[in-house]
Amino acid sequence: MNKGTIKAIPKRIDILGRKYDIIFPYTFETGTTYAGMHDNCEMTIKLASNVNNTDIPIPFIHVVLMHEAMHGIVSILATEDTPEMPESVIDGFSLGLYQVIVDNNLYKGEIPKYLKVGGLTYEVTYPYDFVDENDASVAINNPCGKILLADIGVMDYKLRKLTFGICSAVYYVYCGGRNFSDLKINLEEGIYSTIRDNNLDKLFIKYSYKGMKNAGKKTR
Ligand SMILES: [Zn+2]
Repeated sequence: MNKGTIKAIPKRIDILGRKYDIIFPYTFETGTTYAGMHDNCEMTIKLASNVNNTDIPIPFIHVVLMHEAMHGIVSILATEDTPEMPESVIDGFSLGLYQVIVDNNLYKGEIPKYLKVGGLTYEVTYPYDFVDENDASVAINNPCGKILLADIGVMDYKLRKLTFGICSAVYYVYCGGRNFSDLKINLEEGIYSTIRDNNLDKLFIKYSYKGMKNAGKKTR
């Protein structure tokens, strides 16, 4: 593992005000294929740099980081009414959010017109006027690939609402879910805050395949 890999992994992560130490590279017991672990009591996220003596590429470590951060978000936001969230759903969210962050121009202070989610492209209609519902600010129609977003509030508020659309689309495309609201948790609030507070979007893009291509251009 080279020094560049160490730099690509943050030392701490703030999840809704809880500050976790990231222990990297962490060596899990031999014979396991663990790549990461979230510990709510020790306030740590442990990340491996290799599995079975093979280095894990940085984007894959970032997906594991997202996965462990999701556990942290869920542990804070879940209520008695929240159904148990299976590992497969956490996996779907971490993979999906990673892809959406890397493939779209998100959180740049403007609302994107399109949103690539997996192999699908959603159309974002903004500003959308919710004529019948005064307080509505976002709506999503997954089977039709539409996200409707009202021009209400400051940009930070709108990006939070857009993140609701992103989460709903990721749940549909990556988790095989029908209605994001079935999860009964304001996951989008935790996801938006965690990405923004830790600049995960910039970090993921920098070390993504896209980032590598850009880095290559500069040196040529
Ligand atoms: Zn897990």
